[in-house]
Amino acid sequence: MSATIFDTPSFANQRERFLEAAASVKATHVVYPHPLQGPRGEALSTDVAIVGSAGAQKRLVLLSGTHGVEGYYGSDSQIALLDNLRDHALPEDTCVVLVHLVNPWGTAWLRRVNEDNADVNRNYIDFTHAPPANSAYETLHEIYLCRDLDGPARRRADEQLAMHMRHLGEARVRNIIEAGQYRHPDGVFFGGTQQTWTNRTVRQIMQAHVSGARTAIAFDLHTGAGAYGHPMLMAIAERKVSAHDAAQSLYGPWLYRILTAADASSDSGVAATATGYTSQALIDQLPEVDLMPLVIECGTYDGARGHTLLRDDHWLHLHGDPFDATGRRIKAALLEHYYPADADWRALIALRTRQIWQRALDALTKR
Ligand SMILES: [Zn+2]
Repeated sequence: MSATIFDTPSFANQRERFLEAAASVKATHVVYPHPLQGPRGEALSTDVAIVGSAGAQKRLVLLSGTHGVEGYYGSDSQIALLDNLRDHALPEDTCVVLVHLVNPWGTAWLRRVNEDNADVNRNYIDFTHAPPANSAYETLHEIYLCRDLDGPARRRADEQLAMHMRHLGEARVRNIIEAGQYRHPDGVFFGGTQQTWTNRTVRQIMQAHVSGARTAIAFDLHTGAGAYGHPMLMAIAERKVSAHDAAQSLYGPWLYRILTAADASSDSGVAATATGYTSQALIDQLPEVDLMPLVIECGTYDGARGHTLLRDDHWLHLHGDPFDATGRRIKAALLEHYYPADADWRALIALRTRQIWQRALDALTKR
């Protein structure tokens, strides 16, 4: 079995670099093993590194890899921060909680979703109630079951998608699809039918390493929406929270605010219709912490291209083999979409991410 496409970058390499960087600043390390393996038989886990006193009143919390393949950016940014902390002391009574690759299966297998084909960023809903309905997705679902990657069935599916876009508008169709759906495990933007491993593990990590704080600023790290090389700083929630006003004063016009709802829209490239976002889960889980939950979303290529690649990868999941030539080609394209190799893109997003975190650390001294 050839695993060439999975060699570089790889989950194991990111993890090794993260743990080395964490050890070099004498971080406390806690491992949360994942039950499955990566494409090279490697063990998978989410790793937490805590720099500074674990009992600090103020915490900077950084989560990477909610959307698996997007985790290469998040992991690299976390490693860069750890390297930076070797020479820069943290402010008083402040610690940094780095949560490395919360969807390790998706990162290792170069998928945006997790081992259940679930979009983890749609999974933080209350499963004791009926999940949100997305009836408009029902007519679109069959497009994503297409058995051909590029044969007649794919052309029919392309035509069907184009027809819906002509009737409803491209933005509306994207909003319907990206809102998430909870009925079709073989569909796209599937939010799951129960709490995923990531959901349970993130909650466990928040309980163990954030719940004792007085105040915290949290960042969930993503790529793939917005303008190329432009990291959008976002506040996303179902309800207005006062911490977002504080975030607005802190970041001024850099901050994009999205209140999600079934009929909400946004020109940011991020779905305002979606349910089950990580940010909302953190707010709900940590009511005693004065928490400012933010998202960094780094723009790459355009959304239509991304959607085509997601369809290809979904086909691979349903009908293909990630290790054959076609599978490797799809994986390479997907990785490039979510983590462009362009050194200038990487330099831009690294710089902006560092600026955003520096401002957060400075703000924590006053909170
Ligand atoms: Zn994402």
